[in-house]
Amino acid sequence: MSDFNKNSILHSNDGQHTNSFYAETATHVEAFSALDSDSEADVCIIGGGYTGLSAALHLAEEGQKVILLEAEKVAWGASGRNGGHVGVGQRVGQDALEKKYGKVTADQLWALGLEASNLVSDIIIKHQIPCDLKHGILHLAAKAADVDYLKQNTENLRNNYDYEQVSFIEKDEVDQMVGSAKYFAGQLDKGSMHLHPLNYAIGLAEAARKMGATIFEQSRVTSYEKNSDAVVINSNSNQIKAKKLIIACNGYLDKLEPKLAGKIMPINNFVLATEPLSDDLAKQLIRDDVAIQDSLYVINYWKLSADNRLIFGGGENYTMKFPSNIEIFVRKYMLRVYPQLESTTIDYAWGGTLAVTMNRMPHYGQLSPEVYYAQGYSGHGVPTATMAGKLLAEAITGNPERFNQLANLPSPSFPGGTLLRWPGLVAGMLYHSLKDKL
Ligand SMILES: Cc1cc2nc3c(=O)[nH]c(=O)nc-3n(C[C@H](O)[C@H](O)[C@H](O)COP(=O)(O)OP(=O)(O)OC[C@H]3O[C@@H](n4cnc5c(N)ncnc54)[C@H](O)[C@@H]3O)c2cc1C
Repeated sequence: MSDFNKNSILHSNDGQHTNSFYAETATHVEAFSALDSDSEADVCIIGGGYTGLSAALHLAEEGQKVILLEAEKVAWGASGRNGGHVGVGQRVGQDALEKKYGKVTADQLWALGLEASNLVSDIIIKHQIPCDLKHGILHLAAKAADVDYLKQNTENLRNNYDYEQVSFIEKDEVDQMVGSAKYFAGQLDKGSMHLHPLNYAIGLAEAARKMGATIFEQSRVTSYEKNSDAVVINSNSNQIKAKKLIIACNGYLDKLEPKLAGKIMPINNFVLATEPLSDDLAKQLIRDDVAIQDSLYVINYWKLSADNRLIFGGGENYTMKFPSNIEIFVRKYMLRVYPQLESTTIDYAWGGTLAVTMNRMPHYGQLSPEVYYAQGYSGHGVPTATMAGKLLAEAITGNPERFNQLANLPSPSFPGGTLLRWPGLVAGMLYHSLKDKL
């Protein structure tokens, strides 16, 4: 067992979703059974988060026989615990992408990023997924030095990408929009969205089930091997024989596939939900019911739930366990933004593990002609992992061009690989989070 396992970050103790506001308000659906016999599939998928579920849905729509194996429960990982922000574009800004890859590639990446967020809303509409989908993300300049970037980025998107949903917001207006005078300016993106992340994932699973995909919960894959005519996947003392395999475990990969582990760094991020707020107070904090995120390296992000709770994400750690009291850990970030919530009760606090890559672009590829993977969405996985599922399905059903385009982007390994990536990365992360405080 790895250290992660001992501390239960990567395993549940009870097979249930982690205790959170999302779990408490989850759509009730029939549970999936555990794998209890051998079987065969065109495609076997390991991991039941957005990546795996979206791949299952898109493959089933193409008539593929799909078996998805989830170690715990559907969306037990990051997909059931995240902030629910659905940002347009890539995790890396267009300006940086242009510098790194040139305008032609940056254009293609923008188009894929735009398609990703549209895909989320299209799936929600098509499959009538009840997940509180709303429009608007407000990005805030937490430092005076960030204002120019927001201005330039807005102009670039409007002038060079024909993206008119985005606008620069002056400080006076920002103060009104967020009920705080702390911020220097903002950028409002009306095309971006926010949602109830667990209910979105449950809806994806239901859509995949209706299209004919077979999903098993409580079915941890312990190993897989390639034989002459199939990939053999071992779980619950049974075997699945599949023509293709997708590894979709992201921050919860653990030791399943060491060849992928060195490309990603699992980090832990934390969220709280307050008691329901009065309409007046809720409007004072978030005037227009948009999701909000600031520009700090360790970002603070927040939004209102359907029942007027403040869902606030703040703070991360890079150790192998969560803080002993997550409520205290996150509350201090919330109070820095909203000291007026000093006496507000916190009803839920939880953490989750996501995977970041060195260059903050997703890491797609194949380990062999049969084995595919997608991971490392670096905090932008609601749209990007959904899109990854679609691209994986395209690649497996004979249209690999778009998947390969992303797979061909260089994805540097963390220095020192799996063994030494912790100390170097942690030093780097701590350095940047220290700069947030200056
Ligand atoms: C606190 C937090 C806040 C975030 N906020 C946002 C946000 O606001 N917006 C955004 O875009 N992104 C956000 N993210 C990132 C986003 O949640 C992830 O990128 C996305 O959910 C990844 O989806 P996934 O399917 O690849 O992985 P996951 O959802 O983590 O799913 C992986 C699954 O694989 C399963 N698994 C692992 N090993 C095995 C095995 N051996 N056998 C079978 N199953 C296995 C796990 O149990 C898990 O369910 C956040 C993440 C966290 C943790």
